[in-house]
Parts: sequence; C-alpha cells; structure tokens
Amino acid sequence: MQETVKVVKFGGSSLADAEHFRMVEQIVRAEPERRYVVPSAPGKRSSGDTKVTDMLYECYNLASRGGNIDEAFQRIIDRYELIIQGLGLTLDLSEEYATIKASFKLHAGRDYAASRGEYLNGIVLSKLLGIDFIDAANVIRFKEDGSFDDDTTDSILHAELQRHYRAVIPGFYGSMPNGTIKTFSRGGSDITGSIVAKAARAALYENWTDVSGVLMADPRIVENPQGINYITYHELRELSYMGFSVLHEDSIFPLRKAKIPINIRNTNDPSAKGTMIVPNGSSIPDEKHVITGVAGKKGFTVLHIEKAHMHSEIGFARRVLEAIEDEGITFEHLPSGIDTMSVVLSGEITGEQRSRILNAICVSCLPEYIGFEDGLALVAVVGRGMVNNKGTAARVTSAVASAGINIRMIDQGSSEISIILGVDEKDFETALRVIYEEFVK
Ligand code: ASP
Repeated sequence: MQETVKVVKFGGSSLADAEHFRMVEQIVRAEPERRYVVPSAPGKRSSGDTKVTDMLYECYNLASRGGNIDEAFQRIIDRYELIIQGLGLTLDLSEEYATIKASFKLHAGRDYAASRGEYLNGIVLSKLLGIDFIDAANVIRFKEDGSFDDDTTDSILHAELQRHYRAVIPGFYGSMPNGTIKTFSRGGSDITGSIVAKAARAALYENWTDVSGVLMADPRIVENPQGINYITYHELRELSYMGFSVLHEDSIFPLRKAKIPINIRNTNDPSAKGTMIVPNGSSIPDEKHVITGVAGKKGFTVLHIEKAHMHSEIGFARRVLEAIEDEGITFEHLPSGIDTMSVVLSGEITGEQRSRILNAICVSCLPEYIGFEDGLALVAVVGRGMVNNKGTAARVTSAVASAGINIRMIDQGSSEISIILGVDEKDFETALRVIYEEFVK
C-alpha cells in the first residue's frame, strides 16, 4: 500500500522569528505524514517590520547602484542569527553569507538576491527539523522563455523526492536552463508548495499561514465574515481573480490535474480545521449557504457599443476585439445583448489608446454609439450551490436594488457558479455588504 504523504508550506509570518519556528516544528512533528516542508522567507514580526525578501531587494538595488551594502546586508544576517540563536541551533552560515554578499557585489541578479531569503530559511528549518535540504535550484526548472517548466520539474523533483524520505525544499525560486536563479512572482512559495505536492503524489497540500482559512468576504468591508469550510478550485479561482488573496493564484494549476486538495491552516491556531480547497464539489458536504463567497474589485473601464442588428452581422465581435487586441489589452468580460455589446477592461488605458480603439471600431463596425465609461467596480458572487438553485440572481439583484444601487452590468458565466455585477465604484462596498447579508445573515 502506498504511504500517505502530506506537503506542508509555511508562509513568512509563520517563520518570522524563533518562536514561530518552534510552532512550525511542532506542527511538522505532530503528523509523520508531513514529510516535505516548503518554507517562505522570514516575514514581518509586527506591522512596522520589513520582510526579509524586501530587505534583500533593497540591499540588491543598493549594490547595483554601486552603493556600500555593509549595513543593509548585516541587517539581513541579524534576522537569521536571531532566529538561529533563539532556537539554540549549532549552525554556522558565515560562508553562505559571504558567498551571497560577494554575489550581490558582482550583480548576480535581482531574482538571485530575492531567492536567498527562502534558501537560508530552508537551511535553518532543515537543521531544526533534522531532515534533508534540497536546493530548489536543482529541482524546480524554468524554460528559456521564463515560463515554468512543468514536465521537466515534475520528473526531476519526483525522482529526487524518492531519494529523501523527508526534506525541506525552499519556496519561491528555481533555475533557468543556464543555471541562473529565477523566482516566481511575489508570494510564489505557494506555487513551489503545489509543485512539490504534485511531484510527491501527495494526498494533501497544507498551506500554513496566519489566518484560520478563507473568509466569505473581505473583513475590511464586511464585519466579521464567516469562514469557508469547503471551496472548489473553480470557486477559488473566480474569487481570487476578484481580489481574494489567500493563496497565490498560480498555485492551483499544478494541483488541478493531480486533483490534490489544499488545506489552508493557521500556524497560530493549529487546532482550527481551516478551509479545504477541493478539486470538485461532489465529495463535500452541502454548505449552509447558497453562496460560497463574495468579492470584488474597483478600477474597471467599459467600452459600450450599440448598433441595431449587430447580432446578425458576422464577425462584429471579432472586429471589436481585434481593435482592443491591437493595443495589447486583454478583456475581462463581454456582456452582450441583441443590439448592444460591452467590453469590460481593467488597468489604465491611455487617451491615445482610447482614440485608436474608437477609430478602428468606427471604421470596421460602423456603430451607432460607441464610448468609454470609467469608474466601474465588479462584484462576483460565487457559489457551487447556485447551480440549479432558482432565484439566486433575483436575490442578488433585489438586495442591491433595495440598497438604492444601480446595476450597470450583469453577467453570469456558463458554469453558473458565479454572477458578476458591475456597479459604480462609490457603491462597491455597500453592494458587497448587502449581498453578503442577503445570503448569510
Ligand atoms: N518571500 C517571497 C515574497 O515575499 C515569496 C513568498 O513569501 O511566498 O514574495
């Protein structure tokens, strides 16, 4: 019978000081299945503190400007030494520090610099746990174009894990075909955790952070929102796209095919079950509420187009989208009616881009009306419970309408697990609150 393997990833706040390292040690030792451990770099110890990754970026910037890095580098060393001494470990990292400092002076690269936070933390944690250290540079690979090399990594890493019954693999980085270090985007240790879970053929990926799971709404907007017990990958994708930031967005992809669940746990409260993120909803108990979560974002722009019988004109939408594509802009949503079409765009669109888009569409589509409108906020109401549940959209819209909010756009994806509303930015927070209250309170 195959043994159960769990991969555990600890975020920066879980490894910010010696006291947290001790908690991590207890968590790992509590279950023998927790065989592979992926650490981030030490995070903030208090709100005014600086993450080691940011200290490394800053120090490297100084080095690349030809400045003296002695003090800035010493502050980084001090963070690790405080942890090592606090844990009472016999560990001499002076050679590592010297190599890193010399490489900074030789301008070894920003990614190299940032990666050293997890690299050093991995060494400290493997010493504390008394298990092997696997340098991520040897097992996580990127392609020539900078994208992650899934297949090569999976075969190298799978083979390497077979050689180590337990190991620490630092998060956030890997290497390019020429051996130089490359990092994922910020928060990327989550992705490393997923990659390791996949390569270990793990039964579970535990992602330990400083919150007891995913909340149904942003606590800065909704007071004391309830936690989510179970959420599917698909639901989480929809919510993360709208600003939920529990887990790095890209960390779901490696696990999707492998169908490995993720458990978000709290290092400061290990007895809390946290949130279970699962491949599909069929195996999980029904939730109390029809919706799983509600989230949203401000800062969208809509391009409105009107023309009688546009729906019967072949290639109309393609020509509209081509004008947007030519400006290197992607679109977020495309709600359309018989004679109207709206393209929802995010990010800044310059005045010049706007006039080129308008001109191109005027020439290719001859619309009766066309214009940009700024200041749109999108709210996504997400829930697998909405599928086949009649009246959910009506409840959403009437809750928003009774708060006196005008809905500028509404869109329901074909999978029926999300309803997207467009409202004025000034109504954003209220819309989120009333929707939450409609379904939860
Ligand atoms: N240390 C990196 C960052 O601060 C990666 C991570 O923590 O996941 O972005």
